[in-house]
Amino acid sequence: MKAVIAGGSLGGLFAAHMLRRRGWTVEVHERVEQALQGRGAGIVTHPALLEALRAFGLPADDSLGVRVAERLVLARDGSVRGHREVPQLLTAWSRLFHLLRTALPDECYRSASEVVGFEQDDECVRIRLSNGREIEAALLVAADGLRSAIRKRLLPGAEPRYAGYVAWRGMVDEAVLSAPVRERVFPHFVFDLPPHEQLVAYPIAGADNSVEPGRRRFNFVWYRPADEHGALRDLLTDAEGRHWPEGIPPPRVRPEVLAAARHAAAEVLSPQCAEVIAKATNLFFQPIFDLESPRLAFGRVALLGDAAFVARPHCGMGVSKAADDASALAEALAGTASVAEALQAYERRRQPEGTRIVAHARALGTYMQAQLRTDEERAMAERHRSPEAVMRETAMPITPGVAVD
Ligand SMILES: Cc1cc2nc3c(=O)[nH]c(=O)nc-3n(C[C@H](O)[C@H](O)[C@H](O)COP(=O)(O)OP(=O)(O)OC[C@H]3O[C@@H](n4cnc5c(N)ncnc54)[C@H](O)[C@@H]3O)c2cc1C
Repeated sequence: MKAVIAGGSLGGLFAAHMLRRRGWTVEVHERVEQALQGRGAGIVTHPALLEALRAFGLPADDSLGVRVAERLVLARDGSVRGHREVPQLLTAWSRLFHLLRTALPDECYRSASEVVGFEQDDECVRIRLSNGREIEAALLVAADGLRSAIRKRLLPGAEPRYAGYVAWRGMVDEAVLSAPVRERVFPHFVFDLPPHEQLVAYPIAGADNSVEPGRRRFNFVWYRPADEHGALRDLLTDAEGRHWPEGIPPPRVRPEVLAAARHAAAEVLSPQCAEVIAKATNLFFQPIFDLESPRLAFGRVALLGDAAFVARPHCGMGVSKAADDASALAEALAGTASVAEALQAYERRRQPEGTRIVAHARALGTYMQAQLRTDEERAMAERHRSPEAVMRETAMPITPGVAVD
């Protein structure tokens, strides 16, 4: 049985590994030509992600990244407002990508190869690629991300919805931080909670994957409200006046926009976090979206990972969810000879789970929204904004099937 996977990022790679373990032949097609880059983004690991890596025989130990034992909330004057013991292993997008990609034989992975169309019938699905090639397969997995063209065709109404705030991201080498900042922030999971904003920062491995003190990096995500028709529009407009509504490439962000973000960091954040942002070399931002798909199965085509659901990053579940989707898909396909029936079973299991994760992450992020529209939003915002609630709930897994607020 042959599966074609559209998208060769983490979701596509998880699907490829899970299906190969069940005896499928897979071809992953990734439209980007160069090796994918995570721009230094950190990833919080959860037990489901570690289990998935172990299942492929990949390391799921301390070689993945940096262990932290405690969470801290810093106040505007740099003092500690609160702390909580939460042991966690923190890795990096590029580390996970490298592990999963090198464990997949090269003949299964095609770069610079875009899926541009497909047709299906009872016998097979025929997939068209950008180079003109056509492939017949039993299954097409759409792991083509938030802007999935496959989802757009199958579910034209399921559009990403802007959440009302953006995430500024970046990282800094441990060695360039001043000694007092280094001592305060390493090796903790740090929060800074200015009104209607949130910064989450934590250590990850350094350039050569080193986790030795002095050679690590500190990675941050700083959420700031940006009204869709005012501040966001300005952030997404480049120096030539071109507007990039679906996300501006980092090199096109105007220097004055970056300077304003650094200035705001000095105005509203603790001195430690402001220094981290002042010294970050790769400051960039991403608008935050919610995306929900009412269906995941369409005959021989399945949606997976961010193509299916995108939750705001506050639970840190995106990568674990993609791994869980892939494992549920492979299990469903092992249980029946009919691909279409198996995909229905996959949808029954994963669609409610995706809906639940999106709802929980939306509740956690409500207090950053530029505008709170309803009483329910205002109540949620109040409920999830105290330092204790933020430390307890952020970047924590939610257990499948168990109710969350
Ligand atoms: C600010 C922020 C912080 C985050 N932090 C975390 C975290 O701490 N922990 C966590 O688990 N998750 C986090 N996430 C989410 C996580 O990055 C994603 O959920 C995860 O990477 C799954 O992505 P994916 O592979 O499904 O999609 P993507 O990574 O978007 O990949 C889709 C791929 O498909 C390719 N593609 C698109 N169209 C086609 C086509 N037609 N043909 C071929 N290829 C195509 C694209 O080039 C791309 O490589 C965060 C996200 C954001 C925005």
